[in-house]
Amino acid sequence: MKMLFGTLPLEMTEIDTSFYIAGNIKLLVARLDKIHPVVSGNKLFKLHYFIKEALASGYQKVVTFGGTYSNHLVATAYACKISGLQSVGIVRGERPALLSHTLVACQSYGMRLQFISRKAYQQKDDPNFKNEMQSTFGRHISIPEGGYHPVGAQGASLIMDELKDLQATHVCTAIGTATTVAGLLKNRQYNEQVIGVPVIKNMIDIAERISFLNGEHLATDITLFEEYHFGGYAKKTTRLINFMNEFYQQYTLPTDFVYTAKMMYAVIDKIKSGYFPEGSIIVCLHTGGLQGNASLPPGTLVF
Ligand SMILES: *Cc1c(COP(=O)(O)O)cnc(C)c1O
Repeated sequence: MKMLFGTLPLEMTEIDTSFYIAGNIKLLVARLDKIHPVVSGNKLFKLHYFIKEALASGYQKVVTFGGTYSNHLVATAYACKISGLQSVGIVRGERPALLSHTLVACQSYGMRLQFISRKAYQQKDDPNFKNEMQSTFGRHISIPEGGYHPVGAQGASLIMDELKDLQATHVCTAIGTATTVAGLLKNRQYNEQVIGVPVIKNMIDIAERISFLNGEHLATDITLFEEYHFGGYAKKTTRLINFMNEFYQQYTLPTDFVYTAKMMYAVIDKIKSGYFPEGSIIVCLHTGGLQGNASLPPGTLVF
């Protein structure tokens, strides 16, 4: 992998689909969660060209945005540390008395945390806000929340290079900002159908987002498995938690409750209902995010 810092080779975990349906359907999980001990999953790819830009800019500083449990914030903090860049994390909401494990990790990688009110956070993309940021933090490269920018999608498109030899008929990922799925669409081969599972309720602007990220022409090339958000972003049900525990017990494959568990649940549900034709080779991206499970009450998960 031509990444900016050392990553491990991409592993594949095969899931036995005969448990779900009779017939010849191959299901592979691409373990992006295992390519790096800290900056796992899709975040590393989305950051790729931003970090390059920051290094080339000479500013040596990155400012980015996120919530209390943001996988993107930790990934950015670590990527900056290892690249010799300073980082600032603008965190949504007032500073809590006790920092989340995510924010503690950010700080331990040298990220300076700046808490702003939810109201101010909503204005973060306004030109005025951007000017203020320049005067507070000096010249820097700004990375939007979740890497939601064409530069982030360009980085995510590198994921497809890693899957080239698998002859996948379907490549599936969870959708948050839609930056990852946009990257997959950008770099897919003709035989690869890209499937996205939105983890946010009523996400009606996915095509618009993909247009912003990739340009108009690629926006319609996607299949969405909707109705698998389990109540909305970072919401969960007993059914989802049971699924995560059973899936782990069966395949020793840990998932996170915000993204990858919902995506795996959706794909398996669609396999069971006969959506995928005979001969399908389905590749599901394990996009990481396992650190988010630490926000669950102890004992919720068996792993
Ligand atoms: C951020 C994240 C996603 C969503 O990626 P987008 O590019 O924002 O759509 C999916 N899975 C995990 C584990 C994530 O942390």
